[in-house]
Amino acid sequence: MASRRKVRPSTAEIIVVGNEVLNGEVLDTNSNWLAKQLYFLGLELRRVTVVRDDLREIAGAVRDAIRRRAEWIITSGGLGPTHDDMTLEAVALATNRKTVLNPEALEMLKERYARLYEMGVVKEAELTPSRLKMAMLPRGAKALRNRAGSAPGSLLRYKGSRIVSLPGVPRELKDIFLNEVVPLIKAEARRVFRYAAGLLVRGVPESSMAPVLRELASERPELYVKSHPKGLEEGVSVVEVVVHGEGQDPEKVKDAVESLIGSLEERLRAFQPVELRRMSMEEVLGDERRP
Ligand code: ATP
Ligand code: MG
Repeated sequence: MASRRKVRPSTAEIIVVGNEVLNGEVLDTNSNWLAKQLYFLGLELRRVTVVRDDLREIAGAVRDAIRRRAEWIITSGGLGPTHDDMTLEAVALATNRKTVLNPEALEMLKERYARLYEMGVVKEAELTPSRLKMAMLPRGAKALRNRAGSAPGSLLRYKGSRIVSLPGVPRELKDIFLNEVVPLIKAEARRVFRYAAGLLVRGVPESSMAPVLRELASERPELYVKSHPKGLEEGVSVVEVVVHGEGQDPEKVKDAVESLIGSLEERLRAFQPVELRRMSMEEVLGDERRP
């Protein structure tokens, strides 16, 4: 029987930039949102790094991700007009180049401020030095249109990596990612189909179910079985078991996951009293739409 070689999904890393995250002021929801997007897109997210608004720290994180040969490096934050927004300068530093005035980004900013002026949001339409700063991209980068705010995103191809830089404001990050980055990932990344489902188990402590989980996991090494203890509810232990599968054939992946959940249900029924409830993929992962 000819076995098709397993597709290894393209690797990704996320670099979150912001003192506010490390000071505990702002909860980093961007990496979680991006992680979910990358999961559904079928890439393999290897690492999330959070660094301060510091040129060397950011450049170091980018360099490290390049050294690890991450194929997609996504940064969040630090694209704005203020002096502490220095992500693109850091990307330039990490890739041995300078930032230059990017004509596409300049055009986007001109349009943006002309519109904000018409709307009466800003007093002048001119690109002040602070506004021009947002048009300074690493040499060779492509500007990514921001329909939800001012600072354009940036895409720089360097060695085997694509470095995508997005603003920190969640609405803007999502806008650029969904409209500009997803099509690129679909065109250029190696992707797998992913599926997950779960079982909510009441009445069997995690330690008692561990041998069952180990056995099932070793029977189906291509699936990933993970238990999440939820603590005690009215003196009964509650554990959520999640099964993840990935592959090229959606039907096969779904069937494999569902059949493992079925076997798990069967084996856990031996523990009485036990209450079992199936959980859908949406329940397990949240109902963020697939990109
Ligand atoms: P702008 O162009 O709007 O200034 P920016 O790229 O400079 O965007 P930051 O200055 O880093 O973005 O962040 C702007 C705001 O976005 C922060 O004050 C915070 O409220 C929010 N934010 C930043 N990073 C994150 C994050 N990782 N998760 C959630 N919110 C974030
Ligand atoms: Mg800012």
